[in-house]
Amino acid sequence: MSQSSWKDQIKKKWGPHQHCPICGKAMPTDRKFCSQGCKDNYIEQDRKQKKKSRIQCIFLIVMLAVMMLVMTVPMLL
Ligand SMILES: [Zn+2]
Repeated sequence: MSQSSWKDQIKKKWGPHQHCPICGKAMPTDRKFCSQGCKDNYIEQDRKQKKKSRIQCIFLIVMLAVMMLVMTVPMLL
């Protein structure tokens, strides 16, 4: 059995499909996740990532404000 026929068999068996970004399972192309669990998992990860980037953003603004203060206060005195 050649490799191409093996690939054809896989294609026939699965049809057009993509893989779940969370668990890597094959699933229909019209779906973003293979299951509700994976969707929840993704949303949870996304929320954590957003929270993390928000904290980083706030940290940067605070750092800038502190630097501005440090540079401005001696001029005022
Ligand atoms: Zn999945």
